[in-house]
Amino acid sequence: MCILIRFTDVSETISQQEVSDFCNLSGYSGFGNNGSVHDYFYDNSRGKLTYTNVVTQYYTAKHDRSYYTDPAISYGTRARELIVEALDDLKSQGFDFSPLSSDGSGYIYALNVFYVGPRVNNWAEGLWPHSWVLASDYNVGGGKKFRDYQITNMGSELTLRTFCHENGHMICDFPDLYDYGYESSGVGNYCLMCFGGNNKNPVQVCAYLKNEVGWATKVTSITPGITATLPAANNDFYVYAKNATEYFIIENRQKTGRDTFLPDAGLAIWHVDEQKNGNNEEQMTASQHYECSLEQADGRFDLEKDVNGGDSEDLFASPYKTEFSDSTTPKSQWWDGSNSSLNITQISEPGSTMTFVVSDTSGWVTNKKVINTYGHVNTRYGFAIVEGLSGWKQITPSSPDGVSNVLDILKVAQANERQVNIYIGSDGKILAAIML
Ligand SMILES: [Zn+2]
Repeated sequence: MCILIRFTDVSETISQQEVSDFCNLSGYSGFGNNGSVHDYFYDNSRGKLTYTNVVTQYYTAKHDRSYYTDPAISYGTRARELIVEALDDLKSQGFDFSPLSSDGSGYIYALNVFYVGPRVNNWAEGLWPHSWVLASDYNVGGGKKFRDYQITNMGSELTLRTFCHENGHMICDFPDLYDYGYESSGVGNYCLMCFGGNNKNPVQVCAYLKNEVGWATKVTSITPGITATLPAANNDFYVYAKNATEYFIIENRQKTGRDTFLPDAGLAIWHVDEQKNGNNEEQMTASQHYECSLEQADGRFDLEKDVNGGDSEDLFASPYKTEFSDSTTPKSQWWDGSNSSLNITQISEPGSTMTFVVSDTSGWVTNKKVINTYGHVNTRYGFAIVEGLSGWKQITPSSPDGVSNVLDILKVAQANERQVNIYIGSDGKILAAIML
């Protein structure tokens, strides 16, 4: 629902019909916006979310604007009072709340409040735009009630960015991906839930949040040996996970359509740690880091260092940056400093479809099962298939332990279902093996 509010001393310049179109009309272009709020969420979810707002008539507040914007009153207090006033008025007029969608507990998904005129407050005072909860649940009958709300000024024009951001919180339970302390830039202009790129054509929601909320079209696990193909703007993602909460998620972002105002085009490689709560910790250490980080291809970490909100060298693409591994900058290591063995190579030029190759990493690959082995008698040929590695791997003839000895370890491990640690040389061959 979207409630419209005017004050006794400030009247509206934008009609109820205009706000209704801004919220709901497919193909809306008023004030230069790229579609309506409905269109933004419909496109971002690839048709999985159809979000419409019931837009009320204007309610005239009981007091002058200055009563509600008084900076001496604790922030949010008068906003809540104003909203309850308006809801009381709707109720007294017999307004029909029954069509509003609610969750399993009866909470209506979204309560948007637009008030007329410009922002007159400083940050965190009076009616400065915010989202919060009402002082207590507001029952409207039929088991339905309001709790979450967002309130914004209308100004002289309606724009998508802030409205969609706040509804991202209410409808999808998205977190903020900016730094509340403003010591860093969070994920900058690469996601609606951070800076959002542009007021009238905000960029898309990032892959992490799209995937969390169930908007993925296709999610593919990354395994060595695959050639990945990623179309842009189709909610196709590649994922490489350490466990259920820490993983990399990769998407193709191009500067067209809803992503026109991205700082860069190419593969966005996100490092997610769901154990973290938001992007307030910019330290990039094992214990302090973001919930959702963009691996910036230029290796400068400008977002964490608050240098900018994104630049033209952040996403991966040929010829600028074609590899991402444990030994590149930025690295594909996990937050605890251990190697992930994720080794992305041959990243293509930016385009509506991008490709990359996932290679085996040189170095130790640990705690793996041996799936098969092969050795030729009287020769120094030994091969194995090891979990997590691509295809048959040769034991390098120059192994200091000797091919027969390495092969023997692998055969015993296979027969007894014991795990192994394998050392892969820079030539991609098995140099050594240890049974665990
Ligand atoms: Zn927010």
